[in-house]
Amino acid sequence: MTWFDEALHAGVQDQGYTQRFEVERVVFQRKTDFQDLMVLETKGFGRVLVLDGVVQTTERDEFAYHEMLVHVPLFAHGDSRRVLIIGGGDGGVLREVLRHPVERATMVEIDGSVVAICREHIPGLSAGAFDDPRADLVIADGIRFVAESDDVFDVIIVDSTDPIGPGEALFTTAFYTDCKRRLAPGGVIVTQNGVPLLQPAEVTTTYRRLGPLFADVGFYVTAVPTYIGGFMTLGWATDDTALRSQPVDVIAARCAAAGFATRYYSPAVHVGAFALPPYIADLMKADSADV
Ligand code: SAM
Repeated sequence: MTWFDEALHAGVQDQGYTQRFEVERVVFQRKTDFQDLMVLETKGFGRVLVLDGVVQTTERDEFAYHEMLVHVPLFAHGDSRRVLIIGGGDGGVLREVLRHPVERATMVEIDGSVVAICREHIPGLSAGAFDDPRADLVIADGIRFVAESDDVFDVIIVDSTDPIGPGEALFTTAFYTDCKRRLAPGGVIVTQNGVPLLQPAEVTTTYRRLGPLFADVGFYVTAVPTYIGGFMTLGWATDDTALRSQPVDVIAARCAAAGFATRYYSPAVHVGAFALPPYIADLMKADSADV
C-alpha cells in the first residue's frame, strides 16, 4: 500500500494541511512541456488527475465541480450557442457543456498531453465529448487565444489550474479584459477561483480585477471534497445584472426542458449557490495589495 500526499501550491502548502490518497497504482507520470502530469489509481476515489502535485479532478467527485461550473452559467443565460472553455484538459467541462443544445464548444487547452492522457486513462471524464462534431479543440495558451481571436461567445468558462505555472496568466487583468472583448452582449464568464478558506487572496484579487470590467461581478460556491478546505468559489462576471438573480422557477423550467439528470446541480442549488457565507463575501471588500 502506498500513499500520495497532495502538494498544494506554495501559498497553501505552508498551512500544514493536505490530503492523502491510498494509491493502488501510478497509471501514468511524465513531465510535459508545461507541468508534471500524473494519473493515479486510488482505492477510494477512482482515477485521479494530478498536475504539479495538485489534485485536478477525481472520478468520484468530479461531478460536483463540472456540473456547477457549466450548468449555472448556461441555464442562467438560457440561450448559449457558442461556448468557450479555457483549460479543462480532462474533458469534464466539455462533456457537461455538450449536454446543452449549443452550436459550438471551443476548448483552448495549453497542454495537449493532458487531453491525450485523460482520454486514454480517465475516459469517463470526457465520455466521448472530444468526438462530438460541435467540439473544437485548440491546443494553445488561453491568454493568447482571447487576445488574438475574433470570435465571440455567449459563455466563457475558465477551467484552469491554480494561479501557478501556466495557469497564472488566466487570473490577470489582461486576460479578463480580452475575455470581455470575446463575450457577446448578455454573455457571462465564470472562473475556477480556488478554495477561499485556504486561498482567500484569489477571491479578493479576482474581484478587484474583474470589477472595473463588468457591471455584475461576484462568486458562487460548490462543495468538492477533494478540493480541500471547504467551499470552492467560482467567479462570475457579466454586464447583464439580472442574469444571476433569476427566480428558481425560470431556472427549473430551463432545466426541465433540457431533460438531463445531474448529481450535484439542481435549480434550487443554482440559486442557493450565490448565497455566500460571510467569510467568503467579506473577501470582496478586503484590501488586496496584489491587484
Ligand atoms: N478542475 C481543476 C481545478 O479546479 O484546478 C482544473 C482542471 S483542468 C485539468 C486545468 C487545465 O488548465 C490543465 O489541463 C492545464 O493544462 C490548463 N491550463 C493551465 N494554464 C493554461 C493556459 N494558460 N491556457 C490554457 N490552458 C491552461
